[in-house]
Amino acid sequence: MTKPIRHGIRYTYTRYGCRCEPCVAANAQYQRDSDNRRGGEVKDPDDVRHGTINFYTNFKCRCDKCRATHKAKMKRERIERHKQGLAAGDSRHGTYNGYTSWGCRCDPCKAASAEYRKTRT
Ligand SMILES: [Zn+2]
Ligand SMILES: [Zn+2]
Ligand SMILES: [Zn+2]
Repeated sequence: MTKPIRHGIRYTYTRYGCRCEPCVAANAQYQRDSDNRRGGEVKDPDDVRHGTINFYTNFKCRCDKCRATHKAKMKRERIERHKQGLAAGDSRHGTYNGYTSWGCRCDPCKAASAEYRKTRT
């Protein structure tokens, strides 16, 4: 005899591909939990180093302040990269990455980006 399927657990969602409401919710909950785990923990709230990039990267603090600092840094770096662009002769010309990550708008990069978009649609 086969075991009846239990709903509302992630196992049923992944194993049986059930998409009923309780199973979807269980899976969503699991994702949230694992996100939190992966995101590290919030350290001692009284620590003065919150909001520094060092605390985020080396101490893996994931409080709102540290996250915000990290986000701002990523943004700055991206802008910086875009400003510099790719040096002539860089092997990343003509790649989608060159176009998006580096903001290069040379012909080969533009072509790569157009090509990429074509394959995606
Ligand atoms: Zn179900
Ligand atoms: Zn923090
Ligand atoms: Zn380029």
